[in-house]
Amino acid sequence: MVINILSEETIDKIAAGEVIERPSSVVKELVENAIDAGAKSVTVEIKEGGISFIRVTDNGSGIEASQIKKAFYRHATSKLTNASDLAYVSTLGFRGEALSSIAAVSQVELITKTADSLTGVRYVIEGAKEVECTEVGVPTGTTIIVRNLFFNTPVRKKFLKSPTTEGTYIYEICERMALSKPDVSFQFIQNGQVKFHTSGDGDLKELVYRIYGKEIAKETIPICQVGKNITISGILGKPTITRSNRNYENYFVNGRYIKSQMLSSAVEEGYSAYLMQHKFPFFIINFEVNSELVDVNVHPTKMEVRFSNGNEFYDYIASTVSTVLKMQEFIPDITLSEEPKIKEKLEKAPEPFEMNRSIRNDYSTKIGSVIESVVQNDKNVSMAESNIIKAERAVYVTAPEQMTLFETPFLSKEAEVNIEIIGQIFDTYWLFSYGEKLLIMDQHAAHEKVKYERLVEKIKNKSVVSQTLNPPIIVTLKNRERDILETYMEYFEGLGFSIEEFGNQDIAVRTVPIDLYGHSEKDLFITLLDELCDDMPKGKQEIIYEKLASMACKSAVKGNQTMSREEVKALLQEMMTLDNPYNCPHGRPTLISMTKYELEKKFKRIV
Ligand code: ADP
Ligand code: MG
Repeated sequence: MVINILSEETIDKIAAGEVIERPSSVVKELVENAIDAGAKSVTVEIKEGGISFIRVTDNGSGIEASQIKKAFYRHATSKLTNASDLAYVSTLGFRGEALSSIAAVSQVELITKTADSLTGVRYVIEGAKEVECTEVGVPTGTTIIVRNLFFNTPVRKKFLKSPTTEGTYIYEICERMALSKPDVSFQFIQNGQVKFHTSGDGDLKELVYRIYGKEIAKETIPICQVGKNITISGILGKPTITRSNRNYENYFVNGRYIKSQMLSSAVEEGYSAYLMQHKFPFFIINFEVNSELVDVNVHPTKMEVRFSNGNEFYDYIASTVSTVLKMQEFIPDITLSEEPKIKEKLEKAPEPFEMNRSIRNDYSTKIGSVIESVVQNDKNVSMAESNIIKAERAVYVTAPEQMTLFETPFLSKEAEVNIEIIGQIFDTYWLFSYGEKLLIMDQHAAHEKVKYERLVEKIKNKSVVSQTLNPPIIVTLKNRERDILETYMEYFEGLGFSIEEFGNQDIAVRTVPIDLYGHSEKDLFITLLDELCDDMPKGKQEIIYEKLASMACKSAVKGNQTMSREEVKALLQEMMTLDNPYNCPHGRPTLISMTKYELEKKFKRIV
């Protein structure tokens, strides 16, 4: 057997396999470099899903002529000097692997100039081999063009998805990078068309408007909480705009876009009282974490991080999110007609080579026509590739709308005298008028919520009343169920169950919480056990109580029933005392509202 020492070229290709998985990895690395170089403006342009062409242009520091070749060496970086720096990494890059990896598997053209030098350099490198190095006249900043990705690694190329899909990955990465840096202007161009262009003026809400559109932007709440080792800032989507997957969960750690199960579930837990099962929130959060408590050097793609005190962060994040949500009034508006047209206003964000340009200055007719042509182009694209287009969100910015309308919340003592109870319909819904609004309450959802909150309270105060069962319920347990039952025994007892061994594999349930009595207690008990077996985080007393109470309530809610006006008033008063009266324990709304404006639109009193 002979042991070979691999050539630099081979080593680079192998390393490239870890860092550069697909075109979107190239884009991510190049944009990170642009941000690290202090760019205020970054343009990403791709063709054919980035497989044949990627261009990233920035107006950052540029690379000094003498340093260019070095930048393409493996483990060559200006961001670290030794391993001890790793604990304080403040740049997005630090491994010095991106440029060498990209150059190993594609044809790269670099054009760069620093502010100090009069001319720039054009450097061409293909499959890690230098092809050309010439002087050129260019503005300060860096452009990197990557052509024919994986041209020399056919196997990797075979695993790429269609250009449309790869293009979508890049689109998403660019959106996230833009969201992570509201103070950097991003432009994304796909097959010759501008898909979005952010202003870089630091306004996160405006950024959301440009990327996600008006519907989402107006349903957001700011969050900002400074903690000991972690600061949480950004915006939370109201529970009215939930999604069926996690694609709308945007989070960053110290400005770095990463994936983290812990962060994602912590935020979701904060939302748990408001979301239905299998629904996920919309949010954009930057977690500013003491850099000594987070290890960013976990994986070559830098998409994973490790926290040294994850549990502490988890609890802090979940409770912060839930507190912010609790302070809001969430009554979804129903809209029967189209939104009123808002005067459109055009703004232009700076191009990479325009330094320090004020964003909100006047715009010339020239710009107007540029934008017109972009919009025209986008229309064409919409027809061709409608699945990936958000063209209508690009470029335009409408005049800032008043996002939150101040008024006394419907569910408040002050509002009470102005609420008129109109009556009940379909044995289920109560109608109220209040100010300029018609409100509709789902009586059962509201009842359930009140009942649930009372039960949680009782459990917490250990004042649950039990009901003795005669005969007791006998349940046969499997090993895993027995483990779970032992782990959570005190919670079951807190809820009002008393449980004893009953020989062999069996247990006897002798009492149940009174709220459960008469509602197929055995099924419910087994379901509770199953739920706990599933994915209950250990030791989270609060959630367990809530889960138990939620199930208990669900079973206890009766079918249609008539209520008197007095009872409705009492119900409203009870709701006022709750932290979150707007959703039932399963996340469904208890109240919806419709504005007078909507009605007038419907009756064509206003057009
Ligand atoms: P890393 O980002 O981990 O340092 P890279 O391989 O991505 O490694 O880049 C190598 C070096 O090239 C960087 O440390 C930086 O000095 C320089 N560089 C890369 N891209 C840019 C850019 N867009 N502007 C200025 N310098 C850059
Ligand atoms: Mg880098």
